Amino acid sequence: MGLRVICEYGGMADVAVRRVDFGYFVRPAEETGTGRPRVEPCLGYVVDHPQGMLLFDTGMGSHPEVDAHYRPRRAGLREALALIGAQIADLRVAANCHLHFDHCGGNPLLGPIPVFVQGAELDIARQTQDYTLPELIEGSRFEPVTGEVEVLPGVFLMPTPGHTDGHQSLIVRRADGAVILAGQSHDTAAQYAADQLAWRARRDGHGQPLPDIPNWIDTLQQLDPRVVYFAHDRSVWTP
Ligand SMILES: [Zn+2]
Repeated sequence: MGLRVICEYGGMADVAVRRVDFGYFVRPAEETGTGRPRVEPCLGYVVDHPQGMLLFDTGMGSHPEVDAHYRPRRAGLREALALIGAQIADLRVAANCHLHFDHCGGNPLLGPIPVFVQGAELDIARQTQDYTLPELIEGSRFEPVTGEVEVLPGVFLMPTPGHTDGHQSLIVRRADGAVILAGQSHDTAAQYAADQLAWRARRDGHGQPLPDIPNWIDTLQQLDPRVVYFAHDRSVWTP
């Protein structure tokens, strides 16, 4: 299922995307590249689709060592959904952009709700020590997928490797254009904006040298996104 299928889809005006606030954590100075600690939000998203509600990312898992390192101020899945007037029973499907502890923390609370993840990501999470919290992986009902997959009509998962090899983003086609839930494809909207501008320069035939950008930026931009949301930045990208 490729880009052509996505573009031929007419889109739906009535699919709302809402942010789910899972709290924040403090990334220590040695991980930020700036020499200073940084407080980062942990954000998921709900897609209100006529065929059921989809949740993209489920919040931060908990472990004494992780909590000591990242000092989270955590909103659990139930609490975070309640803040937008939703509950776990409303969900039909879920997906994780990737399987680090801060994106799949609420998975074990989902019960029988299927969680779509790239098979490559699941393999890495199962095989790599300290990749994530093992109980989050064992407690999930995963539906591994490969490549682009339509999970609800007009709603697609698309691999966007980089932060992890099996990272994926979610694309929601609407009548007014695509809404992209990028996850952690980029840490910030500003980084996405920089890659988008580099993509534009390349498309314009601007001379080298130009920055290297991931191949999938072209696929995303050809969808004519109206807004791109991120897992760790409240700012968004807009054209
Ligand atoms: Zn993250």
